Amino acid sequence: MITFDKVTKTFPNQFTALEDITFEIEPGEFVFVLGPSGSGKTTLLRLILRDTRPTSGRVLVAGQDIGLLPNKEIPNLRRQIGAAFQDFKLIMDKTAFENIALALDILKKTDREITSTATKLLEKVGLSGKEHLFPTQLSGGEIQRVTIARALALDPVLLFADEPTGNLDNQTSAPIINLLSDINQAGTTVIMATHDRDLVNQFSKRQLHLDQGKLVKDTKKKKKAKKEDKPDKKPDHKNTESTAPQTK
Ligand code: ADP
Ligand code: MG
Repeated sequence: MITFDKVTKTFPNQFTALEDITFEIEPGEFVFVLGPSGSGKTTLLRLILRDTRPTSGRVLVAGQDIGLLPNKEIPNLRRQIGAAFQDFKLIMDKTAFENIALALDILKKTDREITSTATKLLEKVGLSGKEHLFPTQLSGGEIQRVTIARALALDPVLLFADEPTGNLDNQTSAPIINLLSDINQAGTTVIMATHDRDLVNQFSKRQLHLDQGKLVKDTKKKKKAKKEDKPDKKPDHKNTESTAPQTK
């Protein structure tokens, strides 16, 4: 689903935020991007959103080199990615419900669809009963839940969460990750950036470790060839390409 192929990002001030990064994320994975502040986590996510371009190397999303994507295709790319960024603030004079309704309104949904979808999304993130509270009336964890619900309004194939637990204590953080994990179980690929090593170590999920712009560790386990992955019979010779099992 996402491939980084020797990606380097040097900003115009000559600062290199990411250097020679190569990894692959498959559809349905849950991946933590872990690293201290300034290690390049947000830059990595911004590259996938085509919010910035690599200086060298390629970023592929669904097989497409997004560096080559014409500008008019960018909104379409972003529509497939739900992004819950720390600095995508909620609108303070709108309730939880209204914040989500706004995201759905942009997608040109009818009023009826908006009400039913926003209600369902708030229920999914555990905020039933708090729909009509304003951000100032919600706890930090609840605000993150609204932000995640708003990202899900796009019905994305990929969900980004950039430091969703940044301002939360451990007791509030773990349930947020459990929520992301549930979303992942339902089929959405999830990428979560965080500096909190102790927190992510409580979960047995893949970790990409960044340090000063370098990928210093990837805990992805190499898949063993499983018996059930093998074809029962010889694939049709005309279709060998498409019917062959994916081996990795
Ligand atoms: P993280 O999200 O891990 O804290 P970032 O990806 O935001 O790290 O930033 C990585 C490094 O790149 C930081 O040192 C930051 O100052 C630098 N950086 C980020 N954006 C820019 C930019 N637009 N211009 C110059 N330097 C930048
Ligand atoms: Mg960041």
